[in-house]
Amino acid sequence: MRIDIATLFPDMCEAVLGESIIGRARKAGHIEINCHDIRTYTLNKHRRVDDKAYGGGTGMVIQAQPVYDCVMAIKEKLPEGVKPRLIYMSPQGRTLTQEIVKELAAEESLILLCGHYEGIDQRVLDELEFEEISTGDYVVTGGELPALILADSVARLQDGVLPNEDAYSIESHYNGLLEHPQYTRPEEWRGRKVPEVLISGHHANIKKWQEEMAVKVTEKKRPDLL
Ligand code: SAM
Repeated sequence: MRIDIATLFPDMCEAVLGESIIGRARKAGHIEINCHDIRTYTLNKHRRVDDKAYGGGTGMVIQAQPVYDCVMAIKEKLPEGVKPRLIYMSPQGRTLTQEIVKELAAEESLILLCGHYEGIDQRVLDELEFEEISTGDYVVTGGELPALILADSVARLQDGVLPNEDAYSIESHYNGLLEHPQYTRPEEWRGRKVPEVLISGHHANIKKWQEEMAVKVTEKKRPDLL
């Protein structure tokens, strides 16, 4: 799968996506992620990409032309026949869930568009028929952090990125429940002991305990999921 991020801050995205599990997965070729600078495509002699909002208001708006040209250039680079899913990261979109992540992880290509300032001229969003996805009901300064969340959550479901399917399929939200608590060494810390069953070596009992705890944790922390 391939993810292309159109942003005014490609270095910010690269810095995150070059690290840890996703950084290694990119190097190993399990997923291709490219970050594109929208500013490269501006036709403005001062390299400006934004202007004042019609109707007034405090913030600037990213202009349609550089966004359009950037997205078209990305589309041209895609292999023949690949139809990208175009996603504008927006606080007005549908809220990202693990169900949506699974759906997006099955796509061949995603183009994620990051807004900044007051956002992006509506006409380019309409022209290219972007769908909108939000990471939650709050506003951050730019679409980069939301795009990185989306890219990371989709990338970790690709074959080879995590050691095996268990690594993501028994985690919170994958099957509608939260995950059981986790413990590591030492067996006792500040008088708190690791649950006996986890050091028993009895695999069936451990699995049963983990399943029961997943239900209990969900009941306690997110009863709305049950
Ligand atoms: N004026 C916009 C509004 O009121 O809907 C908010 C603009 S916001 C300050 C700047 C950019 O950050 C947006 O264009 C969007 O790309 C991104 N953004 C902000 N909050 C977001 C969220 N919760 N989910 C996804 N993207 C978000």
